[in-house]
Amino acid sequence: MAYEALDFYDVNELLTEEEQMVRDSVRGWVEERVMPVIAGHFRDGTFPLSMAKEMGELGLLGAHLDGYGCAGMGQVSYGLICQELERGDSGVRSFCSVQGSLAMYPIHAFGSEEQKQKWLPEMAAGEAIGCFGLTEPDFGSDPGGMITTAKPVPGGWVLNGAKMWITNGGIADIAVVWARTPDGIRGFLVERGTPGYTAPDIGGKWSLRASVTSELVFDDCKVPEDAILPGTVGLKNSLMCLSSARYGIAWGAIGAAQACYSEALEHAKTRIVYGKPIGRFQMVQNKLVEMASEITKAQLLAWRLGRLKEAGSEHHTQISLAKRNNVHMALEAARNARDMLGASGITDEYVSGRHMANLESVITYEGTHDIHMLIVGMELTGLNALGNV
Ligand SMILES: Cc1cc2nc3c(=O)[nH]c(=O)nc-3n(C[C@H](O)[C@H](O)[C@H](O)COP(=O)(O)OP(=O)(O)OC[C@H]3O[C@@H](n4cnc5c(N)ncnc54)[C@H](O)[C@@H]3O)c2cc1C
Repeated sequence: MAYEALDFYDVNELLTEEEQMVRDSVRGWVEERVMPVIAGHFRDGTFPLSMAKEMGELGLLGAHLDGYGCAGMGQVSYGLICQELERGDSGVRSFCSVQGSLAMYPIHAFGSEEQKQKWLPEMAAGEAIGCFGLTEPDFGSDPGGMITTAKPVPGGWVLNGAKMWITNGGIADIAVVWARTPDGIRGFLVERGTPGYTAPDIGGKWSLRASVTSELVFDDCKVPEDAILPGTVGLKNSLMCLSSARYGIAWGAIGAAQACYSEALEHAKTRIVYGKPIGRFQMVQNKLVEMASEITKAQLLAWRLGRLKEAGSEHHTQISLAKRNNVHMALEAARNARDMLGASGITDEYVSGRHMANLESVITYEGTHDIHMLIVGMELTGLNALGNV
């Protein structure tokens, strides 16, 4: 079934030639390399690890960062990369988001020159893989409550605690880990193989199956003095990483929704029920029009946010609004597309069911739908309904 990306308001015209080229090259790569194999990976619960180097060659890893082997693209180009990857699968986009925004970005923004030289070129090439450990078993929406500690000892630090639900954890060469020190929360780089550090994978997932999700366990794990990210001064640094990743998610969700819409539209034109294509029924058209309207609004929101980000004038609550709106939009589109496919929609011959399952994770991670509502609500009212912030 041929994929056609909806662009009802000619958002294409708002993009530079370079941005269009980036989008088209990633779209082509996803069509050729991701689509033929992704349902199999989802079924087997495996991440297509060989794609890491291919993404590196295409300049997709840390694409929005400058220097150290990174492509130095603009924010809209980075967003379009996320959009096209997530059209393939949220797991593939999650890999790219975690690598670029949650692992490379903190090294780039808060790392020492030695840390940057050591890790960023290899990570940009997809030869070294990173993960980001913030969430703990008892602290997800409220990461400031974390109990993982980093205790200063002669010659370094000793980490104790556990991180939970960590994307790329089991395949990561380097983990960016947030821990409580006597001076507050700081970021640390923990290398794979460090004694006292293990990363067991979490099984039994019915969402984001083509992505590795792991626990990170630190049991008297000693790291050297220079494992600390020197520019980190508190929880706010980890939240800056999340802002960068959430921005990409707001774009990525559009790709997932476009994939579902394209599939639903094709089915509406070709599936004959009561002697006519189901697209001739008003309720089916209503679903398609709702999807198209919401995708169009989401595209304009993401594009505007991208331009604000490029000007350096975006606010983190604007990112919250876009992540919340666009992921919810995509999940609704996936559910409606799945419904329109009838029984066929529950098989992995069609993409909508896989996107629907994946988006349940996407609406939860990087701040749940409700947490982003409370963040925007606080901005609008000046009143904190979130917790103890
Ligand atoms: C597939 C996957 C990959 C992930 N990858 C990573 C990763 O790479 N790194 C990382 O650090 N984390 C990662 N996470 C963790 C993710 O960010 C957390 O799951 C998320 O922040 C929610 O935390 P929680 O699961 O502990 O839910 P909880 O915080 O326990 O929330 C449970 C429910 O309570 C609601 N709730 C909580 N507080 C409030 C409040 N004040 N008011 C109203 N409602 C509230 C929430 O909205 C939610 O509905 C991942 C999660 C998943 C599923």
